[in-house]
Amino acid sequence: MDLTLRNGLIITATDTFRADIGIEGDRIVEIAANLPPGRTDFDLGGKWIVPGFIDVHTHFDAYLAPYAMHSPDDFESGTRQAACGGVTSVVDYAFQSTGDTLHDAVSQWDDKARERCYIDYGFHTVVVDPRADVLAEMADMVQDGYPSFKVFMMRGFGDLNDRALYEILKHSKNAGGIVTVHAENGDIVQARSEELFKAGRRAPHEVPYAMPPEAEGEATQRIITLAGLADNAPVYIVHLSSISALEAVRIGRQSGQQVYAETRPTYLLLDDNYYAKPAAEAVRYMASPPFRSRDHVEALWNGLRIGDLQTVASDHTAWNFHGQKELGINDFTRMPPGIPAVETMGPLLFTFGVQTGRITINKWVEVLATNPAKLFGLHPRKGTIAVGADADLVVYDPKRSVTLSKDVTHSAVDYEPYDGFELTGYPILTFSRGTLVMKNGELMVQPGHGQLLRRNRFTSL
Ligand SMILES: [Zn+2]
Repeated sequence: MDLTLRNGLIITATDTFRADIGIEGDRIVEIAANLPPGRTDFDLGGKWIVPGFIDVHTHFDAYLAPYAMHSPDDFESGTRQAACGGVTSVVDYAFQSTGDTLHDAVSQWDDKARERCYIDYGFHTVVVDPRADVLAEMADMVQDGYPSFKVFMMRGFGDLNDRALYEILKHSKNAGGIVTVHAENGDIVQARSEELFKAGRRAPHEVPYAMPPEAEGEATQRIITLAGLADNAPVYIVHLSSISALEAVRIGRQSGQQVYAETRPTYLLLDDNYYAKPAAEAVRYMASPPFRSRDHVEALWNGLRIGDLQTVASDHTAWNFHGQKELGINDFTRMPPGIPAVETMGPLLFTFGVQTGRITINKWVEVLATNPAKLFGLHPRKGTIAVGADADLVVYDPKRSVTLSKDVTHSAVDYEPYDGFELTGYPILTFSRGTLVMKNGELMVQPGHGQLLRRNRFTSL
């Protein structure tokens, strides 16, 4: 045996049990009691082993044209944080440029990622210019291992009308794909932003008025209706933040539609009180959609617990405070939205979800590893611990205490949004396809270990 992990407590989406794991090459080949030590052996002394988490929503090496800004976190620093936080696969968003094909988008994003990743990485494609040839290309994308697409209902990403959304959903369904959706009513958000700007209400704390829960609820409801009309096309709502959107998802699922939804750690942990802080603080927490009031936060935990929400993903989009976020202190229109979270997501949900009793430890693995793997064509190769699966494994020390700060996390940005949060339980070893890539916050391989993921067509969860 090349590698053995012995005396660990294995935790999957369905089971918790003591066993040893044997690995040959990239794969798990045996799970049994009392395996003899392999050529490389780790005696874990009762620590926990979970499948590596799969973050299906990141924006590494992002460029936001309206702000003319590059994210300080590229695929090297992004996947470094991922490995340190127990994430072994990411699926980033490759944006189509007008006039380009979807294959062009993947090739441009792969240029940013190739030879720079510590862990495996894949791409969803963002459909910005749904010309007839691009709609036809969607079937090839699914064939080629890119079965997930994204549409924005916000303005500025192709300004897709209902007909365009319907056509994209229909082509995705026919191709065996799934469409992920940023669901906010773009016209309303734009109108209310302009209202605020004209009235001179430009401080960061004004933003929630421009992006109200109703705009999210309406768009979520509408895309689910359109997906139903498009022969029950699979649809996945990204970064769901509000009660009305959650209700729309629940009703769609109850009526038999293939509707799925993700939330982010920020919406589970932080609320709109952060916008009442001084502007220089508030800008650090600006997200799209914005943080909601406490009743939404509790509804999301409940949605996660009972299965109305199937996944948690980071939506990691990182900007410096100095020179980037701070431009919004007196004018929210100059402030790029986004927060780094790929590294802290798993440990935060463990401390504030599992240890508080809001979700079980198996649900924690389900929403962070197994469900994202299943929805995005990576299961059973990834997302669980099973014979034949990739040896993407994370050893957690459930007793380890960590106080988050800029010194602890590994982002290239100049602040840590969860600064001061006290956590119990933290990843200490991360294995990617049988290779130890992280030990106690230190990277053990060079960038380039991570490989491009080709994924299978969509199958129902
Ligand atoms: Zn995003």
